[in-house]
Amino acid sequence: MPLFPASFIDDLKSHADLVQVVQERVALRRSGATWKGLCPFHGEKTPSFHVNGDKGFFHCFGCGAGGDAFKFLELHEKIGFQDAVKQLAQRFGVALPEPGCHGTQTGTFAGGSGPYGKPAGVDAWRTRFRGSSTASIESTG
Ligand SMILES: [Zn+2]
Repeated sequence: MPLFPASFIDDLKSHADLVQVVQERVALRRSGATWKGLCPFHGEKTPSFHVNGDKGFFHCFGCGAGGDAFKFLELHEKIGFQDAVKQLAQRFGVALPEPGCHGTQTGTFAGGSGPYGKPAGVDAWRTRFRGSSTASIESTG
C-alpha cells in the first residue's frame, strides 16, 4: 500500500475545510471562534464536541476524541487513514498523486504519428533551455 507524500497531505489539509466536513455529518453551532455540537462518538445531551476551523482540529471534552480532518473521517466513517485521505481529496476536488506502481495502461504520446515520431515539445524545450543557460552564463561573468 503506497503512502501519500507529506507534501500532498499538507496541501490537502489546507484545501479541506474541517468545519464543512463535520457539518455534513454533525449539527454544529457557532460558538465564538469555534463550533460545537453533540459528539458523534459518544452519547451525550449537552454539546461538548468542539471544532476549530481555523486550526483544523476537533476535540470532544466528553470522551476525549480529537484530531484533524483525517482523524474525524477515520473515526466517523470507521475507515483507515488512506481512505480518509481519498475521501477528503474527492470531496474538495484535490487530485490524488499517481500510485506509480501497478501501471494500468500506459498512454500513447499525443501527436506522435509513428513509432519514430519526434515528440513535438522537444524543440520548444530546447530553445527555452538554451535561452536560460545563456542568461545564467552572462550573469555569472
Ligand atoms: Zn465524545
